[in-house]
Amino acid sequence: MCKNNIEFSSSITTNGALLTDEIIHKFKKINLNSFQITLDGNEEYHNKVKKGNSSDNVYKITVFNILKLIDILDNPNILLRINFTPQNLKKINQIIHDIPSKYRKKIEVSLQQVWQTQKENSSLELSPCNNDFLDAGFIAPLYKIDGKFYKCYADLYHQSVIDLRGNVFKCTARDFINHTPDGVLNNDGTIRWNSIFYNRMSRTTIENEFCLQCTLLPACWGPCSQKIIETNIADFNKICNKSGIVNTLTTLMDNFHTNKIINKQNLK
Ligand code: SF4
Repeated sequence: MCKNNIEFSSSITTNGALLTDEIIHKFKKINLNSFQITLDGNEEYHNKVKKGNSSDNVYKITVFNILKLIDILDNPNILLRINFTPQNLKKINQIIHDIPSKYRKKIEVSLQQVWQTQKENSSLELSPCNNDFLDAGFIAPLYKIDGKFYKCYADLYHQSVIDLRGNVFKCTARDFINHTPDGVLNNDGTIRWNSIFYNRMSRTTIENEFCLQCTLLPACWGPCSQKIIETNIADFNKICNKSGIVNTLTTLMDNFHTNKIINKQNLK
C-alpha cells in the first residue's frame, strides 16, 4: 500500500537470467507480481541469442528462474514470450519438456515473430505449435484482441519511463542513450516535459488522412506515437500494419471456422 491507501503493484519485462531468491522475495514485499520473460527459441537457439559467461547455459538458468518465481510468489502472472523465426519455429515445442506439468497452467505463452524476419516469411503457420502448448497444459491464446483504445502505453498521457539519470522517456523500445528524452525529472518529483513530448501528445495516433478513412481503424488505432514522430507522412506505408492486421483477422476467422480455438480453449 502507498499513502492514502492506494494499492501499489508493478510489472517488469526481464530476460530472467539474474533473478535470485533474494530478489524474488523483494518482489514479494513490493507486490511485483507480473512478469514478461522472453525465450528466443529452444535451448539451442536461445543460447545463441542470449550469452552469459562462456560456461553459462542461459536458457536453463532462465527456465529455472521462471519456475522459481512460481514457487516463491503467490499467483504471479507470467507471460512467456517466445520469439520465433522461420528457422527456430519447428523446434520451439521442445521448450514444453523443460517445464514440468505442474507449472504449465500458471504460464501464458505468447508466440511472437521476430520482426526482422517478418518480410522473409509473413505467413508462418503458428497454430500447430501453439496447439502443442495448449495440449501440454499451458495458457496459450493464439491471438488476443485487446479491446484497448490506444495503440501503446507510451501514447497515454500519464505514462513515463525514468532512467537512472533522471531523464524521462515515453517509448521503451528505443535506446535511452542515443535518443533525446521527452523530459527530465525535477527534484520535487514533477516532470519538466519538452517539445518532443508536446509534439507527441498534441494529436492522437489516428489523426492523419490514412487512418481516419481506414475500415480497420477500430482494430488498430494507428501507428504508435513514437513511429509517427519519427516518420514523414510520405512514408506512412512503412509504419502502417494493415497487412499484419488482415493476416491476424484471417487466421482468427479460419481458426474459429475450424473450431480450433473455441474447442481448445473451452477444454481448459
Ligand atoms: S491499418 Fe494503417 S491506415 Fe488503418 S488504422 Fe492502422 S495504421 Fe491507420
